[in-house]
Amino acid sequence: MIEASEIENRGAAQQNPLPAPLAPLERLAWNYWWSWAADGAGIFRDLDPEIWQECENNARQLLAKTSAYRLAEAATDPVYLERVRRLDESFQSYMTSGSGWTIDDLKITHEHPVAYFCAEFGIHNSLPLYSGGLGILAGDHLKSASDLRLPLIAVGLLYRYGYFRQRLRNDGWQEEHYGETFPNDLPITQIKNADGTPMRIEVSIRERNVLAQVWRADVGTVQLYLLDTNIPENVETDRWVTGHLYGGDRETRIVQEMLLGIGGVRLLRKLGVTPHVYHLNEGHSAFLTLELAREVIEQQQLKMKDAIPVVRQQCVFTTHTPVAAGNDEFDSALVVRAFGKEYLQQLGLTEEEFLALGRVDANNKAERYGLTPLAIRMSRSTNGVSLKHGEVSRALWQKLWPDKKLEEIPIMHITNGVHAPTWVSPLLRYLFEKYIGADWEKKLREQDVWKEAVLRISDEELWIAHSLLKERLIAFVRHRTTHSRLAAGEKADYIEAAKTMFDHEALTIGFARRVAGYKRWNLLLSDQQRLLRLINNEERPVQFVFAGKAHPQDEGSKLVLKQLAQWKYDPAVRHRAVFLEDYDQEIARQLVQSVDVWLNVPRRPMEASGTSGEKVAINGGLNLSILDGWWLEGYDGNNGFAIGNGTDATEVAAIDALDAESLYRTIEQDVVPIFYNRDSSGLPRQWIAMMKRAIQTLAPEYNSNRMVEDYVRRIYS
Ligand SMILES: *Cc1c(COP(=O)(O)O)cnc(C)c1O
Repeated sequence: MIEASEIENRGAAQQNPLPAPLAPLERLAWNYWWSWAADGAGIFRDLDPEIWQECENNARQLLAKTSAYRLAEAATDPVYLERVRRLDESFQSYMTSGSGWTIDDLKITHEHPVAYFCAEFGIHNSLPLYSGGLGILAGDHLKSASDLRLPLIAVGLLYRYGYFRQRLRNDGWQEEHYGETFPNDLPITQIKNADGTPMRIEVSIRERNVLAQVWRADVGTVQLYLLDTNIPENVETDRWVTGHLYGGDRETRIVQEMLLGIGGVRLLRKLGVTPHVYHLNEGHSAFLTLELAREVIEQQQLKMKDAIPVVRQQCVFTTHTPVAAGNDEFDSALVVRAFGKEYLQQLGLTEEEFLALGRVDANNKAERYGLTPLAIRMSRSTNGVSLKHGEVSRALWQKLWPDKKLEEIPIMHITNGVHAPTWVSPLLRYLFEKYIGADWEKKLREQDVWKEAVLRISDEELWIAHSLLKERLIAFVRHRTTHSRLAAGEKADYIEAAKTMFDHEALTIGFARRVAGYKRWNLLLSDQQRLLRLINNEERPVQFVFAGKAHPQDEGSKLVLKQLAQWKYDPAVRHRAVFLEDYDQEIARQLVQSVDVWLNVPRRPMEASGTSGEKVAINGGLNLSILDGWWLEGYDGNNGFAIGNGTDATEVAAIDALDAESLYRTIEQDVVPIFYNRDSSGLPRQWIAMMKRAIQTLAPEYNSNRMVEDYVRRIYS
């Protein structure tokens, strides 16, 4: 592992030197551990709340931009200093203790860690290297690996422009823009060679040597390495290899994937790491298996067919896509051109033999080159991300095992989970600490502990905490909306109206997810009169918070957003429905911690797992969802609401109509009455009982500690 050879790029953005008593903040800012530590975000925010918001919660920038006077003030505030001291103390003890909580697996060690590859990582919104669910899941995987002290090293790409930022025009049409990410603004460290020169990784792509520099982000005890081709030694085209996340054409995509897979393995070699196992999280990194084969062939003078079993022994693959069309595929000519003749020679393969590795049917020359067949073929284990998705994946890829029966297809599943300390609200965390203990995070998997502890939380206490969070959400909605209306140049009275929108007594439903066909935003809009009746009911109103991005090329989904905007000026609706622009981890956090109900209406069985509803459950919110993905496993009849009867879609229009009817009926007949049914003290007792049941049954199961432990026991070992 590297230590001495790394030199920091720290301080590049530093303007005002930190007063000595604040020195721990510097250390804390450079490890994303603060983002899930109790009071971590609070300590940075309180240094200067305005700058904190301006720099999108980037701790390094906050320290660089805070005025010398404000720093001096903080450095002489004993209460603040005590908070800093306590946080720093827990950080030091977190980083050095491994006691009692270690996953004992002698084969996975610091010398032979898990190498976790992914095209995106959603660690925190100040590190914009993710687009959605896959990235957030990868981020949560790293955080739990750290919490569990699992030796794991992660490899990804540092995108200069990340994923697009969303803005809606006045008429509701989505526009995309990109913010440039400057490494010197981020809490990441450039990796250097022993002689102090910046480390370079070299991969031949399109018959040209492409160089990448290397950065490291620290996520607790886990190190996330990021390759970046934006360096002067590269020709202009190659500097753009790591330009955008999922931004370019097919060629950019394959070139990125070569860098991630091949470059990633070469990076590990330079760092002196020999992984116990390579985890391909989704097919984007599948080319790493070819690089491992190339090494084996070179070192052991083997033929490809004998190298494959050696590679397979070391690789495990997680698929996240429930539809054939969602899998990464390329034209044969493009693949051959990108790899170049030399790489094929090194593998000892003809073009046809090389291409056959990515085809379901090796002999079918018309078939495109798929990363999922490649990854499945080259890995000793393949898994889906929920029970249902395992089933769907077996059916989808049965064709790779023509002589096996469906139930014999070796694709298993591990259901996704979320990182509880990242997603839990400060108030619920406080309740967990009070009723489970300061070590509640270590007891995340213990069903009995949760069951018993949650029973002891009084209805009043839980309801008051939830109500306060809802007030915070409403303040957030008003604040965000005021700003976006100002920025959009809306009329003064409309801007003013944002300051009084939403009612903290009203049933609040959150619907935030990608705007994509199968997520069926149109379901909720399918009967507009019925929807408006819910919203406008004076006694028992329902209010909605929406957020989500449409793919830039998906005109249909952009039209859905535009349709939603038709009500934005309607005086009857505008107080109770809002769309928040630019859905990201921060908006997600605000919503999942505070809404009463989290709505999800995917077309079955397209939601491989979904994780946002799991974040809500940990906070005592109730899911109202189609029985698909994780909710098919999590729903027990009393811990939330189910929509539809659980049949798979065959005739799309018919199923959509049935599900829409079920959605409205469930809101009208179950959700609204239970929420508004109060006892003499004003509490919705049945609702609170459901909240408690959600926490009891779902928190100990759908968290990423459980997920990572499952990976260790059932797949990595
Ligand atoms: C959790 C999360 C997701 C995943 O959401 P699903 O609705 O489960 O697909 C996507 N984006 C962000 C910003 C998230 O926080």
